[in-house]
This record gives sequence, structure tokens and C-alpha cells, in this order.
Amino acid sequence: MSEPSADQSPETRVLTDMRLLDVRGITAFYGKAQALFDVSLHVDRGEVVAILGRNGTGKTTTIKTICRMLPFADGDIAFAGQSLKGLASHQAARLGLGLVPEGRRCFQPLTVLENLTVAARPGTHGTRWSLDDVIALFPRLGERQAQVAATLSGGEQQMLAIARALMTNPRLLLLDEATEGLAPVIREEIWRALGALKRDGQSILLVDKNLAEMRAVLDRCIIFERGRSVWTGGIGDLSSDLSKRYLAI
Ligand code: ATP
Repeated sequence: MSEPSADQSPETRVLTDMRLLDVRGITAFYGKAQALFDVSLHVDRGEVVAILGRNGTGKTTTIKTICRMLPFADGDIAFAGQSLKGLASHQAARLGLGLVPEGRRCFQPLTVLENLTVAARPGTHGTRWSLDDVIALFPRLGERQAQVAATLSGGEQQMLAIARALMTNPRLLLLDEATEGLAPVIREEIWRALGALKRDGQSILLVDKNLAEMRAVLDRCIIFERGRSVWTGGIGDLSSDLSKRYLAI
């Protein structure tokens, strides 16, 4: 992280140190179609934050933009005190962004073990996750170490995708559609693992629609509507009026 400049007030320094991700007023386009309008959000160190919203409101686009898979115009994205402007996705990943993308995308012909070892990378802020650690988090992966990813169930592939991201020792774990399309028992296992990560101090930004299931894990949520971040607050402050208006639940 960059050193605080001498002209920062003590309050500003504390804020800078706490804030891991700071997205400020970004816009994004697919060709000429604007998908994000003046989006701002933040994740503090150790926080678990969810982006919520109906279909097509810009959640995935925001995750992709943070990971520099899509360009942004206007505003800025700061990560661990450093601007991501102009960085390629692999450079942003090296700073400590660990993405579990929608659709998982494990290396299908490789075994579980190969997927994990290929991903392993010492983090920029120290190494925390070893093969043993991720297998302790997801024992099913230990039982299937020699199995190729293509033959894993959807739930096992999602566990592998999360474990792979952890092997990069990310400062921020980003999950797009963390439990989409998975059986209830598997979703439960994923939330259990994310709860353990939270207790361990891992910062997480996720997209998911199972609000009831993720409540116990979340600190805060951000609601998106038509490409805009329209509300943020603690999970306890999410009223049924807000849920009805923006989430249709
Ligand atoms: P969902 O919950 O359905 O996954 P989302 O909130 O993640 O939706 P995005 O996928 O970010 O929404 O899409 C935001 C807007 O951008 C939508 O209007 C969508 O149609 C559009 N969009 C997404 N991907 C593309 C693309 N590759 N090309 C053009 N437009 C796109």
C-alpha cells in the first residue's frame, strides 16, 4: 500500500488504511450502450459485502470492471491505496484481487490438484493459503484430488474455483454468483466456508441472489438499480420496503 502523504489528516489516514477497495463514480459501456452510471462503492478490510439487485442491473459488469476485464470511464478505482486505472487484469490480480467468476471456469482437463497448484501464488501481503488449508476448508476437494475438473459436479467446481482463488492469497476475494444454480446442501457448504473465511478476516465482495442464506455472513450490502448503486447499508438496515422495491422479494 502506498504511504500516506504528509498532508493527510489523521482521520483521512485511518480511512485510507481501513479502505481496501474504493470505487468512485465510474461509468462503463458495452460498445455504445452504457451499463454503469456513476457507480460508487467500497469494501473495508475484513468486510463481507454483497452487491444485490434484479437481473441486468450491472452487478457482473461492476465485478468485471473492478477486475479490469472491462474498461471504465470517469471516476477511479483504488485498491489498497493504489489506482487501478490503466492496469491490465493480470496486473490487478497480482495486487491481490482474487476472482471467482460467474460460471466457475476451472481448467477442465486438469485435475483438482493441478488446478490448485497452477493457481498458487504468494500474496503481496504474505502467504496464508496452502494446499492443506484449502483442502481443510473443502474436504471434498481432498477426496477428489486426482479427478479432472470436467468430471466434478457444479458444486464441487465452485468449491474448486473458490479454492483456486484462495491459492493466490488474495487481499479481496470477489465472487460473482457465489451459489447460483447449486443444490441447497452445496449452497450451505459454500456459505459455511465463506463464514469461516470471514472469521479469518478475509475481505469479500460477492454477488448472489440468496439473500436469506447469506445474511449471516454479510456485513453490508449495496443495491444496484439500472446500472447505478442506489443504496448501501448494514444487512440489518435492509428493510422489507427496500427489498420489495429493488429486489422484488
Ligand atoms: P444478472 O443478475 O442477470 O447476472 P447483472 O446485474 O449482473 O445481471 P450485468 O450482466 O452486469 O447485470 O448487465 C448489465 C447490463 O449490461 C444489462 O443491460 C446487460 O444486458 C448488459 N450487458 C451485459 N453484458 C453485455 C455484453 N457483453 N454486451 C452488451 N451488453 C451487455
